[in-house]
Amino acid sequence: MNPVTPTPVAAALPKGPELRAEARRVRDAHHDHRITYSPKVFIPLTMLCRDRCGYCTFAQPPARLEAPYLTPDEVLAIARRGAEAGCHEALFTLGERPEIRYPVAADWLTRRDYASTIDYLAKMARLVLDETGLLPHANAGALSADELSLLRTVSPSQGMMLESLVPDLDCHRGAPDKAPDRRLATLEAAGQLAIPFTTGILVGIGETRRDRIEALEAIAASHLRYGHVQEVIVQNFLPKAGTAMRDAPACPPEEYLDAIALARVILPPDVHLQAPPNLSDDFGILLDAGIDDWGGISPITADHVNPERPWPDLERLTMVTESRGRTLAPRLTAYPDYVQEPGRWFDPGLRFAVMDRSDSEGLGRDDPGAVFPEVIETISDEDGAEVRQIGSESTAWYSGAPVRPVGLVPGRSEAHGRLREVLDGVLAGQRAGHDELLTLFGSRGPEVVAVAEVADELRRRRVGEDVTWVANRNINYTNVCTYKCRFCGFSKGPLSLNLRGTPYLLEMDEIAGRTAEAARMGATEVCLQGGIHPDFDGEYYIDVIRAVRDAVPDIHVHGFTALEVTEGARRLDEPLVEYLRRAQEAGLRSLPGTAAEILDDEVRAELCPDKITTDEWLEAHRTAHAVGIRSNVTMMYGSIERPEHWVRHLLRCRDLQDETGGFTEFVGLPFVHMASPIYLQRKARRGPTFRENLLVHAVARIAYDGSIDNIQSSWVKIGFDGVRQLLQAGVNDLGGTLMDENISRAAGAEHGQQVTQTDLDALVEPLGRPLRQRTTLYGPVDPGHRLEVVRPDDGRIRIPLVAN
Ligand code: SF4
Repeated sequence: MNPVTPTPVAAALPKGPELRAEARRVRDAHHDHRITYSPKVFIPLTMLCRDRCGYCTFAQPPARLEAPYLTPDEVLAIARRGAEAGCHEALFTLGERPEIRYPVAADWLTRRDYASTIDYLAKMARLVLDETGLLPHANAGALSADELSLLRTVSPSQGMMLESLVPDLDCHRGAPDKAPDRRLATLEAAGQLAIPFTTGILVGIGETRRDRIEALEAIAASHLRYGHVQEVIVQNFLPKAGTAMRDAPACPPEEYLDAIALARVILPPDVHLQAPPNLSDDFGILLDAGIDDWGGISPITADHVNPERPWPDLERLTMVTESRGRTLAPRLTAYPDYVQEPGRWFDPGLRFAVMDRSDSEGLGRDDPGAVFPEVIETISDEDGAEVRQIGSESTAWYSGAPVRPVGLVPGRSEAHGRLREVLDGVLAGQRAGHDELLTLFGSRGPEVVAVAEVADELRRRRVGEDVTWVANRNINYTNVCTYKCRFCGFSKGPLSLNLRGTPYLLEMDEIAGRTAEAARMGATEVCLQGGIHPDFDGEYYIDVIRAVRDAVPDIHVHGFTALEVTEGARRLDEPLVEYLRRAQEAGLRSLPGTAAEILDDEVRAELCPDKITTDEWLEAHRTAHAVGIRSNVTMMYGSIERPEHWVRHLLRCRDLQDETGGFTEFVGLPFVHMASPIYLQRKARRGPTFRENLLVHAVARIAYDGSIDNIQSSWVKIGFDGVRQLLQAGVNDLGGTLMDENISRAAGAEHGQQVTQTDLDALVEPLGRPLRQRTTLYGPVDPGHRLEVVRPDDGRIRIPLVAN
């Protein structure tokens, strides 16, 4: 992330409505119409302070407090309540160096072996982080570089209001820490230490407009040196009873709005601008002055600095934000630009904690409920080892979890500006390109519903109301694999930790038996996928196809990923086209699109570095289509990639579809994190949020309009409640009944292994749409039809796993 040059120069600044219009222009050009807030709890670690500021009611003398500091139990109790209420941030607020002024504070710390208030703060921040996963934001005032460094190990962001650079303000006479050079030195040190930093100015405490401009210019200059000022708070002075400034006039609204707009045009546009909504009666006007953030909003704790002014509830904040054509998004304590560059901005010990709460855009996960850290223990037995989660249980939805997702559709739909243009264009038949698809993926709130509605309309136009499914059986013939895909909880290298059972390889006879059994149960397809066993040569796959077709001659063989066929041909030193022709002659009818993951080599280098490249995956499908083997597109999303990677993936496959027409469907595969090695190594997010799931399917429908007619969602990973919503967002297909699906379960998904037509009927029935069984290639199936089973029926169901 590089700082952007501020515009225009302060000397030429307009005033009044003209200035505010310019501020809005700058804000909209850089931050579009998204307004963020941070769901947080406020932890007032100590209300003692060595400073005496003329406007402050936060700081109290010891006599008015039950204890000098909150105890660790009290800190944790507040944090835990916040985590349970779905907060992401623990905002530590405290007075500055109280131990210097108050012996009671110094004694309290000494008796407990804390070297200073900052030392205690660091330990409490660590406690909160470890126990609740809430991300601390330390707001500890003017600090030395050593103190900032210590807090950098436990707090992904820090803050200190600059307030003003005027050295002789009356209100700061008793406040040595408010000396401008101390504040500026802290701001500079934070930049040198690469700390995402929040600062700001206080408006109406005796400074002039010129003074404000100078303070903002100083902040801008520091940011241009280091890129660390993530946001600037512009806060209005309000007189409070019991303070030295109780009779001073409140900051006039016009002056306040002027200061906000000044900040927006003076600060580099990448610096976010915040104004607290609880300090203005009509806080919507703050948006008109150019802010893009509401700051921390707590569902459970008061604003301890302004206790007489409660925060608006989320419903009101949403309403006011949306009434101005903007959308609200929860953020983390660090902003997305910083979250997406963790190596530069976060201590190594914090990187996963930040990632674990973030979504694909680096904002806060927005599924309601608690996101507690997953503490994993490994249990060994003679079959291998299994991972099990212990500790507090998250209640937020994630793919594979038995939790009902938030209801997004149907819902209130709204789209403005660029999004409206894109949706109107799509409905008018325009093809969405890279930028349009990226715009769609940025949708929030009622915009998501608007995108879903358009996707649903396109679905209706292309494939009508039918919801389709295929009766199939998965045969995962081996879980032994020479590859080391870092997301894969299914494969077992011979020497790897045997998570969830022993390595196995099914014998041909077993594969044939399972095929026959599937056909007797009404399956029209077997789906063959497995690891890349070191002992296979390419003939193995051909032999498997023959075994299946010998058992049930007319069954549709949907099998072998681009990786398997590429590897099979390579091991035989045979051109892929010849190899695929032989596979087709043996009975292969279509290829699954798995092994695609994310078709972007930047992401593949992290997720699956030794797997086929993007071009090799595309080439395998191009070749398959050329010989008459159809295939589908899959995308595994929600681990480490960003929406721009989704867009590249969708477009690369669309380009190939334009060339060959061989793809039958798009299948969205949300990353299931629970037992995935890359998550256990603390290097991936915990799958997509439900909103992201919905958008991936809806945007795929829009991207593939007129190109790929069928959009399928995975009930195994998303669950029935989620899939029912996706069916209202462009999805028309439920995929297979999937007897014996092992791959998602190996990654921790808890949905069942198999569904029946009755289950699917129950899923679709509330939508009033017809459920229709299909063949793999979307042809009709006579419900009474059964495939001929050549293999003798021995009357037994045998599903043994043969240990390798
Ligand atoms: S995803 Fe496939 S290729 Fe990769 S390790 Fe797992 S089984 Fe092997």
